[in-house]
Amino acid sequence: MFSPLALRLPIMPDEPPAQYAIRLAARNFVDVRAFSLDMGFNFERLLSGCPNATARLADVSGISLSELAENGLIKEGARYLLKGQMLDIHSLRCARIVVCPECLRQDIERSDLPPATAMYRRVQWALKSIGTCEKHNLALVTAAERLSQWDRQNWSVASLEPKLHELIDGATRRSPSHFEAYLLDRLKGRQTNCWLDNLDFFAAEQAAQLFGTFSLFGNGSPPRDLSDADFYAAGNAGFEIFRGGAHGLGAFLDRVQKEFSRSKTFQRDRTLGPSTIYGRLHARLSAYSKETAFLPLVKVVADHIVTRFPYGPGDFLFHKPVQVRKLHSVLTLSRLFKVSNKRVVKVLTTGGMLPCPGCVDRDAVFDAAEAEDLVRNEVLGLTQANAERYLNVPKNLMENLIHEGFVRRYRASTGVQGYRFSKAELDRFLERMFLDAVPAGPGSEAAMSISRASFHCRASATAIIQIILDRKLRWIGYREDLRGLASLIVHPQDVIDAFCLPHLDGMTVAEVSAKLHIHPMVVRELIKRNLLKASSKLHPVNNRPSLRIAPSELERFDAEYTTLFNLARQLKLDHHLKLKAILADRGIHPAEETIGLDTTFYKRLDLQS
Ligand SMILES: [Zn+2]
Repeated sequence: MFSPLALRLPIMPDEPPAQYAIRLAARNFVDVRAFSLDMGFNFERLLSGCPNATARLADVSGISLSELAENGLIKEGARYLLKGQMLDIHSLRCARIVVCPECLRQDIERSDLPPATAMYRRVQWALKSIGTCEKHNLALVTAAERLSQWDRQNWSVASLEPKLHELIDGATRRSPSHFEAYLLDRLKGRQTNCWLDNLDFFAAEQAAQLFGTFSLFGNGSPPRDLSDADFYAAGNAGFEIFRGGAHGLGAFLDRVQKEFSRSKTFQRDRTLGPSTIYGRLHARLSAYSKETAFLPLVKVVADHIVTRFPYGPGDFLFHKPVQVRKLHSVLTLSRLFKVSNKRVVKVLTTGGMLPCPGCVDRDAVFDAAEAEDLVRNEVLGLTQANAERYLNVPKNLMENLIHEGFVRRYRASTGVQGYRFSKAELDRFLERMFLDAVPAGPGSEAAMSISRASFHCRASATAIIQIILDRKLRWIGYREDLRGLASLIVHPQDVIDAFCLPHLDGMTVAEVSAKLHIHPMVVRELIKRNLLKASSKLHPVNNRPSLRIAPSELERFDAEYTTLFNLARQLKLDHHLKLKAILADRGIHPAEETIGLDTTFYKRLDLQS
């Protein structure tokens, strides 16, 4: 390629175009500013990556534009692009110049040029995060610091030549940290495999430095100016955290949280959230969340936080609304269901979700779905009293319905009042009961409620409920003036038929009592004294022994005895005691074998006399 210059120079590996311009000017024995003016480009513009300035330099130097621009910064808004990697102003060393003295020494050694022209600054030395020469395993040494922009532009590496050996002797020997090696790999286009690949170069640098500094120095503010060694260690510590990917980051955050939980601050207030626990880290991420470049990092941390703290819809994390709730605390549950904390604690204790009942209600967190179900069951479930009202059944029938499994209850909280009934399940039960019930109308006068039918048919109410559910009755009706089970009516004969009751011979005590106008207790006593013969038979439904009296036996007894009361009624006397006195006067006394009973019996034979 044609070049107007008599003295030319090859461009060196990793050499930025501005550095090359300085050397080319020196080779032609002029200052770079004068040189650039003569050659028709602006040196400042070359420094900031102006394509026209670079193209002009390519023209005058005879170096191809691509080769020249390879290590040049290209300004992109407020950021810079270097070898395809995005940098920002914090990535660059501004007021400080560092070099590898060994690289410079080799430049002199391997070149025929004068040392001032042979030595050149490498592009990676301008990056703050890189403090080690990977070629010589040497910490970069500070050549100049606190430079103004003008001084920095005019600073020449030639000034180092006399003290190169001294610098080499004083340099720290170390290999690049894993973090530096990773950044160099990215810069040089070598294969990398790290979670940090998700971030732009500058964001990866800052993320590793932020987490590394936090892990080394904790939440307390780190020294204002980290020493080179601290900076090196912090970058590497941060890189080690990110090496484990999102999982490693989560493990680190867990470690921070665990350490914080031992602190006095936490013991004073156990409800402290991530902004206090992660402190500086949280504040920086909160600021980062406004920049697209950091969003993958902010998302991983936010995703971790919702699995450790009770955040849910309505809350904000890093300026973004939380979409899904993973965890609940007692407080968030009590707010959600508008019930007291104490009630929530009782429910969670019953559900076995509180690891140490009673003592961790302030800071414990629980699986959101499971805890919500538990509290919802308790809050929306009916208490037994309410369920009785809902079904409209008396307490004893309710107990039987529960006992025999017609309705189920579940334990939702501690204590005797801790059982609940699902309204939906009670509805299903009622629906099955009323499946083909019709409104009561003319002709249904003989029908009776379940409890009356139970008494009438000597069958338990639950047995009748079972035959209703089994649809064994010919007719089921309901009264429109009542609700719930109390409104259901059945024909007692239907019930008896449904039970296929074998007709038990004889009369019951109650029937005998009604027929003879004697109190049932007295009838039983007569049976006990063997004055009235009865046999005991098992009831086909409730399986209890039932006393039966043969009609002939009843006739015999009625023919043999009468009571004072019946006699008085028969004779239409006002008072039976008067009759007793009259009879006594005539020497008629109550039957001896019945003495001691609550009713006075006479033998009809005695009365005839
Ligand atoms: Zn070196």
